[in-house]
Amino acid sequence: GQRGKSSLPHARERTLIAVKPDGVQRRLIGQIIQRFEQRGFKLVGMKMLQVSEDLLSQHYSELRAKPFYPSLLYYMTSGPVVVMVWEGHNVVQTSRTMVGTTNPTEAQPGTVRGDFSTHVSRNVVHASDSLEGAKREIQLWFQGQELLNWDCCDQKSISEV
Ligand code: GDP
Ligand code: MG
Repeated sequence: GQRGKSSLPHARERTLIAVKPDGVQRRLIGQIIQRFEQRGFKLVGMKMLQVSEDLLSQHYSELRAKPFYPSLLYYMTSGPVVVMVWEGHNVVQTSRTMVGTTNPTEAQPGTVRGDFSTHVSRNVVHASDSLEGAKREIQLWFQGQELLNWDCCDQKSISEV
């Protein structure tokens, strides 16, 4: 494969992952973080917050016309969420695979949704669905200074880039 400068931005790819209110209530925060840590991704930002409807309406702006949108807002503001930014090679796509399909009915065992949820209305976790979406969501949820550039001591064992 290609080495050098051209592959660096890809290794620094970032995505937004959130433990939704049901995941927090069900004490799944640790298990979800563990999956991303053990996969080899690097945590570069994390906070717990009660989300405002304003933030959510921006986060889910594409879904505004959906019939389930009001119940989605209710669900997502029903309690605190833990929102994180994870960094690493192909992290956006790999995270979507780790999280599983939107509807847990179809989610494979081994995925977060396939292991911890049964219904689309309470699917435990959020993951950005594209590079552009990740960039937009990270800017929406985090201030620049809340994201840290730091060196993981095992980075050379995780990837050559
Ligand atoms: P995601 O990217 O896999 O989270 O899925 P979407 O972006 O399509 O939808 C965002 C979130 O809206 C999902 O994770 C669910 O929490 C919720 N959602 C999506 N479809 C439905 C639905 O048919 N019914 C309900 N109640 N919620 C839904
Ligand atoms: Mg989505």
